[in-house]
Amino acid sequence: MVTRFAPSPTGRLHLGHGWSALLAMDMARAHGGTFRLRIEDIDGTRSRPEHVAGIIEDLHWLGIEWDGDIVFQSARLGAYDMALERLRSMGLLYPCFCTRADIAASASAPHGPEGPVYPGTCRGLDEAERKSRIAAGAPHAWRIDMMQAVERAGPIGWKALPSPLEASAGPASIGAAPLAAGDVVLARKDAPASYHLSCTLDDAAMGVTHVLRGDDLSAATDIHRLIQALLDLPSPTYIHHPLLVGADGKRLAKRDGSIALADLRTQGTDPGRLAGDLRAARFPIGISLGRA
Ligand code: GLU
Repeated sequence: MVTRFAPSPTGRLHLGHGWSALLAMDMARAHGGTFRLRIEDIDGTRSRPEHVAGIIEDLHWLGIEWDGDIVFQSARLGAYDMALERLRSMGLLYPCFCTRADIAASASAPHGPEGPVYPGTCRGLDEAERKSRIAAGAPHAWRIDMMQAVERAGPIGWKALPSPLEASAGPASIGAAPLAAGDVVLARKDAPASYHLSCTLDDAAMGVTHVLRGDDLSAATDIHRLIQALLDLPSPTYIHHPLLVGADGKRLAKRDGSIALADLRTQGTDPGRLAGDLRAARFPIGISLGRA
């Protein structure tokens, strides 16, 4: 068994991250397996080196120890490029020149599990137009033609296990409905790969057998499963755990400064006790388990 924790260094870790990392580490340890750490640092606009150092410090403090070297996505750009090239040569990707404003302005954009679904504006551009815009240096992302990709992959489903707290709930449903997400971006204008592509490729390259993560990412799993099918990658078992929510019922997030591990440390919290509480799903007042 190989599990992993894969934070993005866009801020310090909060209680929910610590809990997720503990669950993934414990699962590997309980099965004599391996627990890896991956830093998802290819978002040039939001990733910061000081957050990488902070995350490592937070994890050590909470008693989380990983096996082997840390994998940094920023060191794996060549692998992402090769996969993009392969998908491009399969005719499944197209360049998209739309700005966020263009997409927002498109009145018909329906909502998918990950926000507005791309209306497909650039899907219909002809090859000559694409080439000339790219040659002129127009900023562009690469989107997957979801309809074609789904057709090519054929019927797919992912293996799932219930999260440790729901052991009595029976096996989780197995689903794969990537169509609902529309033509998602696989290479961003400002980053050499999107989360979906890099995460899927890295889980395969690291031999991850069990992906344990919050259930805010279960729609992403549909997309990751599709990418695995297209690129002949092994598909891990997925365990989506509930998210920690605050008194307002909203999930904890880095952006609103929800209980950061670093703050708990400064307040003198005993990390061993905190880890024990998290393992027993005993959370501080005002924090409970919720669904995305
Ligand atoms: N890097 C992602 C995040 O911090 C998580 C990736 C994953 O667990 O698949 O939200």
